[in-house]
Amino acid sequence: MKKYQDHVENIEQSKLEKLAYQYSAIIETTSDGYWVSDMQGHFLEVNNRFCTMSGYSREELLTMKIPDIEASESPQETKQHIETIIKTGSDRFETRHRKKNGTIYEVEITTTFSTIDGGNFFVFVRDITKRKKNEKDLMLSAKVFSTMTDGVVITDVSEKIINANDAFCRNTGYTLEELVGKAPSILSSGWHDGAFYKDMWKQIRDEGNWKGEIIDRRKDGEVYTSETSIVAIKDKNSDVAHYIAVSSDITMKKEQEKVIKNLAYYDTLTQLPNRAFFEERFNNKIASAKRKKSGLALLFIDLDNFKTINDSYGHFVGDKFLKNAAQRLKNSIREEDIIGRFGGDEFMVLIEDFTTISNLAVLANKIVELFNQPFILENNEFFSGASIGISVYPDNGTTYHDLMKAADTAMYHAKASGKGGFKFYSKTMGDTVSERIGLDSNLRSALSNKEFHLVYQPKVDLTVNKVYGMEALIRWINPALGFVPPDKFIPILEENGLIYEIGLWIIRQALSDTKKFHDAGNEGLIVSINISYIQIENDRFLSDLKAIVDEIGVAEHLIELEITESQIMNNIEAALVKLREITSCGIKISIDDFGTGYSSLSYLKKLPAEIIKIDKSFVLDIDKDEDDRSIVQAIIALSKSLNKNVIAEGSETQTHIDTLKELGCTKVQGYFYSKPLKFDEFLAYVTNF
Ligand code: C2E
Ligand code: CA
Ligand code: CA
Repeated sequence: MKKYQDHVENIEQSKLEKLAYQYSAIIETTSDGYWVSDMQGHFLEVNNRFCTMSGYSREELLTMKIPDIEASESPQETKQHIETIIKTGSDRFETRHRKKNGTIYEVEITTTFSTIDGGNFFVFVRDITKRKKNEKDLMLSAKVFSTMTDGVVITDVSEKIINANDAFCRNTGYTLEELVGKAPSILSSGWHDGAFYKDMWKQIRDEGNWKGEIIDRRKDGEVYTSETSIVAIKDKNSDVAHYIAVSSDITMKKEQEKVIKNLAYYDTLTQLPNRAFFEERFNNKIASAKRKKSGLALLFIDLDNFKTINDSYGHFVGDKFLKNAAQRLKNSIREEDIIGRFGGDEFMVLIEDFTTISNLAVLANKIVELFNQPFILENNEFFSGASIGISVYPDNGTTYHDLMKAADTAMYHAKASGKGGFKFYSKTMGDTVSERIGLDSNLRSALSNKEFHLVYQPKVDLTVNKVYGMEALIRWINPALGFVPPDKFIPILEENGLIYEIGLWIIRQALSDTKKFHDAGNEGLIVSINISYIQIENDRFLSDLKAIVDEIGVAEHLIELEITESQIMNNIEAALVKLREITSCGIKISIDDFGTGYSSLSYLKKLPAEIIKIDKSFVLDIDKDEDDRSIVQAIIALSKSLNKNVIAEGSETQTHIDTLKELGCTKVQGYFYSKPLKFDEFLAYVTNF
C-alpha cells in the first residue's frame, strides 16, 4: 500500500515538476514582464523581462513593492486598487511605471488574484510606450486632417475617393457620403484639356508628385481655382496604394492679385495704363522697333482749360471731364496704339507702324479737332482743346527718357504758339526761346563776319590702308558765343532759311580746299559735303551747284553729297527726283546716319545713292551690343546686295576697326584715325599717312 502511495506520489511529483518547468519556460520567453506579488504588494517573483523593463535586478525587486515603481497611482490608491482586484479576481488596466533611472514608461497590466498561499497576484506587464505614441500621432493626424483649412482628399489606387476632410467638403460643396467611391473628376470644370490631366498623371507616376493650379467646379456650378499638390503613397512593396491631394482655394488670392496689379498698372480714374506701365510697354515697343527697324511716335497730349474747369466746377466735374477726355482719345486711335495717363491732364499716346510723318500729322490734327468739340457734363457745355507734342523714334531719341523729354518740349512749344495745336520735336526746341533768338541774330551776320570755317575728317580705305577722302564739317566761332556746335545751329539755319546761302558758301569753300589738296599731290581725294534737304528742295540748287563745280574745277566723280536717311525718307517722292538730277551730272550721293531713319527697302532700291554711311550710334557699341552688331552686319549685307558702297562713321577704337573689317566693311571714318582737322593739319596728315 505504502509502495503504491509512493508510486502515485512519484507520478504526481514528476507531473508537477514538468508543469513547473513549462510554467517557468513560458514566463521567461514571453515578451511581457511578469511578477508575482503578495497582498501587500511585495514582489515575490519576477521574470528577466521585467528586470530589463524596470532597470532593477531580480534581487533588488524582491526587496521592493509595487508603490516603489508605480508612477501614476499614489501608494494609497495602489492599496485600494489591490483591494478591488482581490474582490473581482482580475483586472486589466493602463498605468505608468518609473524605471530605476527615473524615466517613466507606459504599461498595460493584466493581473489575476489567487487565494493560494494566503493570496497572490499573478501579473503581466506590457510596455506600451510605443503603442501610446502611435495612438497619439494618429489622433493628432486625424485632428489635423479634420481641422486643416486646406482640403484633403484621399483616393485608392484606382482613383476612387475613400476619404476627404471637412475643408474639402466645404470647398467643393459635396458631403463626404457623396464623394466616397467617386473619381475626383466629378469636380472637373472642363477648363483643362485632356493633355493637362495626362501630363499631370504622367508626372505623378514618374516622380511621385505633382503641384500646380487646377480650375475646378463646385457642386453648385461655380468655378474656382485651387493650388493643389498630389502625392502617390506607396505601400511596403513600393506599389502605389493611395493618392493624397491637398488643395487650397486661391480664387480670392487670384482676385486680390488682379486688384493689386490693376492698382499698380492702371490709373484708377480712367482705367488707362499709368506712367509706370506705359513706360514698361513703351520699352518693349522700342526693343521690337529696334529689331524691326521700324519707327515709333510718342504724342504728349496736354488738355487746355482742365485747371479752370476743375477749379471753378469742382473735382466731381473735373473727374468726369477727364474720363470723357480719355474716352475721346481712345476713340481717336487704333486698338493697338497705347494710351497712358500721367496724372493731371497729361496723356501719352504711343503709335506704332505709321507709314509717314504726314500720317502722324493727320492723326494729331484729328485729335486736336476732336478736343475742339465741347464736352457736355452735368448738362453744361465745356470747352477744352488739346496741345500735342510729338517725338519720333529713332530721330529724336532712342530711349524712353529722351523721347519723353522731346515730346514734352514739343508740347510746350505747341502750347506757346497758341493753344489747340500740335508740334513735332526739332533739335532747336531744346534751347530756350531767348537762346534761339540770340543764335538766330548772330547767325545772320556770321557769314559776312567770316565766323565760319571748315574742318576735314579723313576717310580711310582699310584694304589699301590709304586716306581716300574727307568729310567737310562746318565750324562756327562767334566772338560773343564762342564755339557753337553744328548740331545746335544747323537746325536754326534750316528754319530761318539761311542754310541755302551758307550751304553754297560751304560747297564753294570745300571744293576750293579740295582743289588745293589735289594740287598738293593728293589727286584722287574724294570730298564729302553735308547737305540739308532744304537746300536740295530749292529749285536753283542744281544750277548753283554746277556753277560752283565748273568754276573751281573739281571732277564731279570726286564729289559726294551726304544727306541723312530721315530727311530723304520724310520727303521720299520729291527726293527721288532731286537726287536723280544730281547724280545724273556725275556727283555722288551718300545716305548719312543710315539706320536711324526707317527706310523702306523698295525706296532704297530706287534711291540713286552710291554710298551708305552707317550711323555712329551703331558703330560705337558694335563690340558691346549684340543688336548693334547685327544691325551693322545687316546694313553691310544690304549695301552689298544693292550694290552700294558702305562706310562706317564713329570708328573710335582698334576693336571697332577690327570688327568692321571682320564684318566686311572696309571704309571707315572716326577718331581712331583722326578728329576733323583744319586745312593745314589735314594736308599734313594725308602727306604723312
Ligand atoms: P554728321 O554728318 O553725322 O557728322 C559726323 C559727326 O560725328 C561730326 O560731328 C564729327 O565730328 C563726329 N565724329 C567724327 N568721328 C567721330 C567718332 O569717332 N566718334 C564720335 N563720337 N563722333 C565722331 P560735328 O562736326 O559736330 O557735326 C555734327 C553734325 O552737324 C553732322 O553730323 C552734320 O549733321 C551737321 N553738320 C556738320 N557740318 C555740316 C555742314 O557743313 N552742313 C550741314 N548741312 N550739316 C553739317
Ligand atoms: Ca555727314
Ligand atoms: Ca553721320
